[in-house]
Amino acid sequence: MRIVLMGPPGAGKGTQAAVVAKELNIPHISTGEIFRANVGAGTELGVEAKKYMDKGEYVPDSVTNAMVADRLAQPDTENGFLLDGYPRTLEQVGELDVILVGLGTPLDKVVEITANTEEVIARLLNRAKLEGRADDTEEVIRRRMEVYAEQTEPLTAVYREEGKLIQVDGMGSVEDVTARLLSALSA
Ligand code: AMP
Repeated sequence: MRIVLMGPPGAGKGTQAAVVAKELNIPHISTGEIFRANVGAGTELGVEAKKYMDKGEYVPDSVTNAMVADRLAQPDTENGFLLDGYPRTLEQVGELDVILVGLGTPLDKVVEITANTEEVIARLLNRAKLEGRADDTEEVIRRRMEVYAEQTEPLTAVYREEGKLIQVDGMGSVEDVTARLLSALSA
């Protein structure tokens, strides 16, 4: 199964992606995690990505697309994958199509986890305390939400048109949301 998982910051996307990918026995590919690993290791890619991440902005498409093309060419994606946080722009949607046409493997489903904005801000501020992520200050959180609404939310219309979109309510316990996701994906 080839799946894309979308959702506004704080909707629980990363947590759910890890659980669902494990359950379905497919690799969990998080562009945010790959960027953070590169920032941590101080690579050239990390230095470039950090400039944008710290402000709540998206890393440029050219950088992100090349990284994903490279990752999807790895042999462990042969039986499927769960993409977490990619695509996030219309240009990335086009690039993902090109990559998947090249591999001969179209997407099966695109899942958007939906969430209530104020609840999400509270969740993110709590995560900031626990994990100390540099992009989890209130100002940056609000900017990330704006960027999601402006640049990423419009992607749902594209995938709805293709008949691939599923929307799942992200409110409630982690276990409840996982159960909703797995049942929506198996339907
Ligand atoms: P995430 O862990 O998915 O919330 O991603 C953290 C940050 O990494 C985002 O706020 C962006 O700055 C950057 N990022 C992750 N995925 C993408 C993407 N597909 N396009 C551009 N920037 C991204």
